[in-house]
Amino acid sequence: MSVEERDLTMTEFATRVVVWQKIHGRNDLPWQNTRDPYRVWLSEIMLQQTQVSTVLDYFPRFLTRFPDVGSLARAPLDDVLGLWSGLGYYSRARNLHLCALAVVGLHSGAFPQTALALQTLPGIGRSTAAAIASLCFGERVAILDGNVKRVLTRALGFDADLAVAANERRLWDNATQLLPIADLQQSMPRYTQGVMDLGATVCTARKPNCTICPLSDACVAHRLGQPDHYPVKTRKLKRSSQLIWLLWAQTIDSSVWLTKRPIPGVWGGLYCFPLFDSREALVESVPPDWRPALEDQPSISHVLTHKDLYLHPVRLTMNSQDLADFAGIWAATDQWPDLGLPAPIRKLLTQG
Ligand code: SF4
Repeated sequence: MSVEERDLTMTEFATRVVVWQKIHGRNDLPWQNTRDPYRVWLSEIMLQQTQVSTVLDYFPRFLTRFPDVGSLARAPLDDVLGLWSGLGYYSRARNLHLCALAVVGLHSGAFPQTALALQTLPGIGRSTAAAIASLCFGERVAILDGNVKRVLTRALGFDADLAVAANERRLWDNATQLLPIADLQQSMPRYTQGVMDLGATVCTARKPNCTICPLSDACVAHRLGQPDHYPVKTRKLKRSSQLIWLLWAQTIDSSVWLTKRPIPGVWGGLYCFPLFDSREALVESVPPDWRPALEDQPSISHVLTHKDLYLHPVRLTMNSQDLADFAGIWAATDQWPDLGLPAPIRKLLTQG
């Protein structure tokens, strides 16, 4: 059923969202009030899977170091990963760098101005492309990230299973039908920001605040008293777990031995202690003379999107820099802040 066929006041949908955003939406975030695609793109990538409060910390630092797409493209990937350290999902940082290279190399340093062209760049999917194109260039294209899916499926009573690609395509179609139709240069940025804000601040996953929602009198989920039934997605991510042993080799002057993680893979491109699948493999890797000095440290757990990691650090204090079997670097304490390190490794090092 198309949006127009519904017994709802959904023709007003866009107007309500636009008016609501102006008064109640988020309007003072550092990546707002600009049509600079570099800033919007950077914030959109950082905000994927990451809370606004965390991005508020990283965004200005990133901009200070890389004020434009050219400076980002010229930087070594290690510098980008170093600044990204702690934000997680490091494929985003690698794609960010690749995308900057593509914008400079293929588009003379100017971001393409349509969602279709933006989608051809590394790390920019359909929804991110639509966010940049609508926020910066007023293009009439729909975003459909997790927050927006929740708002739309609830408001429309869209109960088809989004694990089925055809259903997701139908939701994209509905999302497109709901977009503003006039004054797009002004209304599209406001609307896009509005649906994102509604999902983040009002129509939240656990406790939607329907009483202050501008869509409440037209919202199917609210009318049925069942917001938590939407969106419907049957195929859940399968979680797995992995035990990992970390060789934490450190000299008496506190330099640590770090190896670069392969890409693709967990923490790809970052510097990390050497990792092993078992304690035996870790012990085997250490020259026999050093083995009695190995000290087990308290285990820690770390949660990734699909996986729970259980990390067992084993410390080895050495009086010489002698680990010839591993390709890597001895990193002194003053180098740690600038290196791209996985969050749990940085935590171990700072807690010392
Ligand atoms: S009325 Fe409630 S469930 Fe419906 S869109 Fe608004 S906040 Fe979400």
